[in-house]
Amino acid sequence: MIDYKKKEFKRTFICILTTVLLLAGGSLIYWWEVSHRLREDVRVILDAAGKELAGNINRVLTTQQRILTTLAVSLKDDPILQDSKQLSSYLADQNGHSSFALTGYQFEDGRTVFSNGEKQDFFLSPQLVETIKKTPLLLVHQTHHPFEAGQQYFLLATSVWNKHQPWGVVFALQPISSYQQALGDLVLTDISLSLLIDQQGNVIVSHPQGAEPNMFQVIAQAQPDKMFPVEKMRHNIHQGKEGIFSYYFQGKQRFLSYYPVGYNQWYAVAILPAISIAKEIKSLVFLSFVLCLAIIVAFSLLLVFILRMQHQNSKALYKMGFIDSLTENDNLSAFQLKLPTLLSSLRAKQQLAAMLLVNINRFKALNDIYGFEQGDQVLVQMANNLKGELHAGELLCRSGADRFLLLLVCSNREELAERVEQLVTKLEKSCQLGQEILPLSLSCGIYVIEEETPFYIMMDRTKLALDTAKQRAGTRYAFYDREYLQKIVTEKRIESSMETALADKQFKVFLQPKYSFQTGRMVGAEALVRWIHPTQGMIRPDWFIPVFEKNGFILKLDHYIWKEVVAFLKKRQEQGRHVVPIGVNFSRLHLDDPQFIESISAAARNAGVETKWLEVELTESVVFGNTKRMQQVLGGLHAHGFSVAMDDFGAGYSSLNVLKDLDFDCVKLDKEFLARGEANPRMRQVISGLVKMIKELGSKIVAEGVETENQAKFLRDIGCDTAQGFLYSRPLPLEDFVKKLEEENPQN
Ligand code: C2E
Ligand code: CA
Ligand code: CA
Repeated sequence: MIDYKKKEFKRTFICILTTVLLLAGGSLIYWWEVSHRLREDVRVILDAAGKELAGNINRVLTTQQRILTTLAVSLKDDPILQDSKQLSSYLADQNGHSSFALTGYQFEDGRTVFSNGEKQDFFLSPQLVETIKKTPLLLVHQTHHPFEAGQQYFLLATSVWNKHQPWGVVFALQPISSYQQALGDLVLTDISLSLLIDQQGNVIVSHPQGAEPNMFQVIAQAQPDKMFPVEKMRHNIHQGKEGIFSYYFQGKQRFLSYYPVGYNQWYAVAILPAISIAKEIKSLVFLSFVLCLAIIVAFSLLLVFILRMQHQNSKALYKMGFIDSLTENDNLSAFQLKLPTLLSSLRAKQQLAAMLLVNINRFKALNDIYGFEQGDQVLVQMANNLKGELHAGELLCRSGADRFLLLLVCSNREELAERVEQLVTKLEKSCQLGQEILPLSLSCGIYVIEEETPFYIMMDRTKLALDTAKQRAGTRYAFYDREYLQKIVTEKRIESSMETALADKQFKVFLQPKYSFQTGRMVGAEALVRWIHPTQGMIRPDWFIPVFEKNGFILKLDHYIWKEVVAFLKKRQEQGRHVVPIGVNFSRLHLDDPQFIESISAAARNAGVETKWLEVELTESVVFGNTKRMQQVLGGLHAHGFSVAMDDFGAGYSSLNVLKDLDFDCVKLDKEFLARGEANPRMRQVISGLVKMIKELGSKIVAEGVETENQAKFLRDIGCDTAQGFLYSRPLPLEDFVKKLEEENPQN
């Protein structure tokens, strides 16, 4: 769950970060785009403003030039020039029609007549007159009024050629304010500074007034390290070209455009500080920034909301799919999900991991006695107690009703066994019902994970180990082992084919002869079943009898063998051949069958075989603790004329008392008993004493598993009656047995 949360958080964080970055990037691009556009706009505006400015000035000057030229043309060869009084009043008249402040005429000899009637010599200096002569029509210059103080004027002049007089100059004074008006009178934009400059950068007029005297100097001083723009401007102005650029003045950016006005190589200059643009940009950027921020916040909130919903949903889903609703712990799916990562980390650390399946024995009874609610309580406590026993990195889940699956980490099997032992001991006593401790009985199956196998196989193996633990009395836990699994597999295989085997007559009777110690003659035989499997060959009874005893099939098989033996005896009798009594093994399960005796005697009766030729072998373990029933059975069998042998005497819980109470015709000494006597002289004495006592009780004694002459001698010496074992003969197929019987009893 913690891992899950971490991932969730990481995902949210990445999501928000990406969004914010994207939006920030977007805003940046937007800002750049906006400022770029604005700069472009500034360029366009400034360009237009410069052009307009130059146009305004040009228009003013052109008008004034026209007026002056007209005046000059009207005065050419005019006799009025002879009369200075008349000339003065003519000039005054003309002046009145224009915006000029003062108009005048200067003769070659320096005499000057003004429109206001004044006269003065050499108003224009001879050098200036020289210049005016060279200039085709007009010269404009800044000057003072010859008769009034204060105001600044422009002087406009043009030369007049006269037939009588060699030449003259017509001039006019125009107040500077009219040019300032032309500079300030812009439609397009509020230019902060408009100038009229000459080729050297000298400021002729400025709007507003008070500009620095030289433009080039101002820019050069403002950014001495960056002379390129001003040099370019100077160069362009010399070439008569227009231009636009930006420069820094007192740390602030300004944009500047210059345009020729078409007179005297003068230029109109428009200057716009960047601040006004920046202000515009800034407010735009601020607006877009606020917008972006709002979007980011809104988006983030939405994202957080969605993720929260998603988180809640997946939490609910996780709970549904991976949490056991009763114990609030992981369920099997969660366990299975977490296992691979854990196992690979353990493998890397070279640590062992084991799956442990803990089962509460007879939980159903507990439920029945205390009720389901209390039963649930027990399970919850069990889960919590188990959880408390886990080390870091170990896993727990409830895998079934009363089963808990754990993954334990250990360094070896011994340590693990010890831990499980302690764990179980503790857990069996740690469950409380009310004020009392409820003692529990637990069984555990352990599978030490040694190889990479699918989960269901590991689970199966752990379950098998649990089955083993439950079957073995006195053990609370068992490890999974391969042999056990093999056994289970074989059992399953046996079970699946037993019915067909019986129907197909795959079960065959083998007969092992019994010999008399006294006479050395065959005095009997024991029927031993063999399974002749079509593909696996002969299967020994040790393999399948225990399985059949478990599933009850032995009842069928024993009756079948009995019938086969009866049939064999019948055939021999019919043929008039020699026979010996044959013992048949019966499982203890028959004791619970009330029809047992009746059914076997019926088989013999129906075949017409005398019961004296048939012996029933019952193992010692059957007898133990069941004396009453045994007495009944013995009585019944005897009543029908069967003799009864106690099989495997000395193998398990040998009790002479049993022999005393039960009237067996024969006691078969177990082969293990004999083997023990071989190695131990004291044991031989015990056997000898036993044999004597059994004989005194009136039973015959058959020694099983006689393999050596030594054994035979000993047995004969202590008074055994009959011998059965490989020394004499192995169990034989019927034909071989018959052959042997015939050989030993040649008949006339
Ligand atoms: P059992 O009744 O004690 O049978 C004697 C077993 O000892 C037989 O094993 C036999 O082959 C073996 N044996 C005989 N002589 C010697 C010897 O000198 N040395 C050694 N080592 N073994 C010897 P088998 O045939 O494998 O049968 C095993 C057990 O299976 C029998 O033990 C019996 O308890 C059971 N069994 C066999 N056939 C039947 C049957 O038809 N019904 C029932 N219920 N059990 C049967
Ligand atoms: Ca037997
Ligand atoms: Ca036996």
